[in-house]
Amino acid sequence: MSTFTLEIVTPERKVYAEDVNMVIVKGTEGELGILANHVPMVTPLRISSITIKKDRTEEIIAVSGGFVEVRKDKVVILAESAELPHAIDEARAQAAKKRAEQRLGGKADEYDFRRAELALQRAMNRLAVKQRG
Ligand code: ATP
Repeated sequence: MSTFTLEIVTPERKVYAEDVNMVIVKGTEGELGILANHVPMVTPLRISSITIKKDRTEEIIAVSGGFVEVRKDKVVILAESAELPHAIDEARAQAAKKRAEQRLGGKADEYDFRRAELALQRAMNRLAVKQRG
């Protein structure tokens, strides 16, 4: 099966750079499976997991928004944060989830409510990726 280079970059560091067979991302318009020689495009990503298929192995990475850019020579994911399962601190994500739930249950203006909703999504995404990884 053909391969292409996949890079996952955050503002802090390069999290991943490997030749892979396929990457499955969740864009704002739906799920997208990218193979070698996909047409160039850019699309925003949801707070979600990315699935990478390489030889017979599968890897999963938690991302918090950002973009996927399909270039002629490679696919680049620019994410606000990205963690492989082993890098996810489960207790921290549980604490973040609890904090967000408390905020959502209390008195908050619309802005704080939206922020708590996003924090809850990030925490739940990390917990799901940790469990699947
Ligand atoms: P917290 O409230 O725990 O900081 P958060 O969702 O607000 O969570 P982010 O702003 O998305 O955190 O991420 C800030 C940095 O911390 C990023 O580098 C991200 O990879 C890292 N990070 C956040 N939560 C975890 C976690 N549970 N395990 C490992 N790294 C994490």
